[in-house]
Amino acid sequence: MATGVKTEARTYQMMINGEQAASASGKTFDVLDPSTEEVIAQVPDANATDVERAVAAAKAAFESGPWGQTTAQDRGRVLFRLAERIRKEASKLAELESRNSGKPIVEAEFDINDVATCFEYYGGLATKVMGHVNPVPDNALSLSLREPVGVAGQIIPWNYPLLMAAWKLAPALAAGCTCVLKPAEQTPLTALEMANWFEEVGLPPGAVNIITGFGETAGAPLVQHPDVNKVAFTGSAAVGKMILKSAADTIKRVTLELGGKSPNIFFADADFEAAIDGALFGVFINQGEVCSAGSRILVERKIYPKFVDAMTEKAKRIRLGPPLERETKMGPLVSKEQYERVTSYQDLGKKEAKLAIGGGRAKAFKKGFYVEPTIFYDVDNRARIAREEIFGPVAAVIPFDNEPDALRIANDSPYGLAAAVWSRDIYKALRMVKALRAGVVWVNHMQPTYVEAPWGGYKQSGFGRELGPWGIEEYLETKQVHINLNEQPIGWY
Ligand code: NDP
Repeated sequence: MATGVKTEARTYQMMINGEQAASASGKTFDVLDPSTEEVIAQVPDANATDVERAVAAAKAAFESGPWGQTTAQDRGRVLFRLAERIRKEASKLAELESRNSGKPIVEAEFDINDVATCFEYYGGLATKVMGHVNPVPDNALSLSLREPVGVAGQIIPWNYPLLMAAWKLAPALAAGCTCVLKPAEQTPLTALEMANWFEEVGLPPGAVNIITGFGETAGAPLVQHPDVNKVAFTGSAAVGKMILKSAADTIKRVTLELGGKSPNIFFADADFEAAIDGALFGVFINQGEVCSAGSRILVERKIYPKFVDAMTEKAKRIRLGPPLERETKMGPLVSKEQYERVTSYQDLGKKEAKLAIGGGRAKAFKKGFYVEPTIFYDVDNRARIAREEIFGPVAAVIPFDNEPDALRIANDSPYGLAAAVWSRDIYKALRMVKALRAGVVWVNHMQPTYVEAPWGGYKQSGFGRELGPWGIEEYLETKQVHINLNEQPIGWY
C-alpha cells in the first residue's frame, strides 16, 4: 500500500435526480485528510433550495417515477449489482475512506466489505417482505399489506461513512422507498463515489439523492420538509433530540441511532489474556470513534490492579500512524473539532481520576489530529468521563465488588446502546445478559456487528432497529384491507 501519497484536491458534485449537481448557491466547502490536515476535495455546500430539489426528485421517483413501480425482484437485482460494483472497486473505496476519515486502511477494508454485504443482504430481503391474512370474525377477507413509507431523509455521521450510508440506503431501497441522504460534512467522499455507479447498476433518477452540506443548513431543512415521510438519523444524542422535536411538526416516522457509554464488564473468572485484548479492542478500535465503544471498563476488584497494569502495558504497543500504512492500528481523529473535544476530556479526566497512560496529543506527529490512547483508572461512575460520550480513544476503568455491583454500575447511565460481559461462568454471564439495559450485549467479545442481527439502543441511545429484517420494517407501512364477502346490504338502516 502506498503511503503519504499526495492527491490533488478534487471537486465533487452532489447527486440529484440522477445528475451531478452543484449547490444552488454555487458555494463549496473543503474536505480534509485528517492525518495531514491538507484539503483533499471540495464539495457543494447545500442549503434548503438544494434539499427542495432533492426531495422533489425523490418524491417524483416514488410516486410516478420508475422506482415506485419496480418489482421487489428488480429492486433486489439493483442492490446486488451495486454490491458487485462496490466489491470491484473495494480497494479504491477503502483507500478513499481511510484517507478521508483517518481510520486505518485495514479497518476501512473490513468496512467496505461490510458495505457490499449489506447491499447483498437487503437485495435478498427485498423479495421476502410479506403481508398477512387477518383472522377477522366476519364473512370477509382481511389483509395486511406492507408498503414502502415513501421518501426517506437519511442523515449520517463520519465514523463509518460508507457503512452508515449502506445501513440506511439498502433497507430503504429494498422496501421500495426513495432516499435523500446527507453524509457528514467531514466524510462525504465515498458516498459521492458510489453515486457515480447508480445509473450503471440500474438505479433510476431520483431513487437515491445525495446532498452534501452542514447539519443546520442542509440536515435541518431535510427533517422539516413536509414531503419527507421518514427520517433515519445516526449521530449524537444532542442532535437526535433536535431532530425528534423538529419531526413532530410533520408527524414523520423517525428512527434514531444515537451515542453510548457502553460498559465492558470483566469478572475475575474471565480468560485474562482474552480479557485484556477485549478491553483494548472494545475502546480503541477506529480510534475510539465508535458509538458502541466499550468506554466504561468495569473490572472485578480481585483482578483490578493486575488488569489495569496489563492493559496499560499492552496499550503501549498500539501503533499510531498514517492511516494508509498497513501496520497502523490507530489513525488520527476525524477533525480538529473532534481533536479538541477529545483532548478536553483528556484534561478533564486528569482532574477526575488517575491516569495510567496517554492523556494528550500524540507528540510524534507534527501534523494531523492524533491523540494518544488514554486509560484513566479509579474512575467514579458519576464522573463526567464515565457519563458523557467522548467518542475518542479514552477509557474509564471502574472497579466493582460483585455481580449486583457490576450490574448497578453498568445500568447507571443515560445511554443503553451496548454492553459486554466477560466470564467463564455461563450462569453469571447469562444473568447479566438478561439484566443489562442495552440493545446489544456481547459475551466474551466486544464489537462484532453483522447485517443479519439487529442494531440499536435502549434509553437515550435511541429507538428503532437497523439491520436484519428489523431494518426493513422501519421503512414499511402496514395497510389494512377489508374485502367484504357477504353479498347482502349492511342492513343497519
Ligand atoms: P452529529 O450528531 O453532530 O452529526 C450527525 C449528522 O447530523 C451529521 O450529518 C450532521 O451534519 C447532522 N446534523 C447536525 N446538526 C443537525 C441538525 N440540526 N439537523 C439535522 N442534521 C444535523 O454527530 P457526529 O457527526 O459528531 O457523529 C458522532 C456521534 O454519532 C456520536 O455521538 C456517536 O455516538 C453517534 N453515532 C451513533 C451510532 C449508532 O449506531 N448508534 C453510529 C455512529 C455514530 P454535520 O456534518 O454538519 O455535522
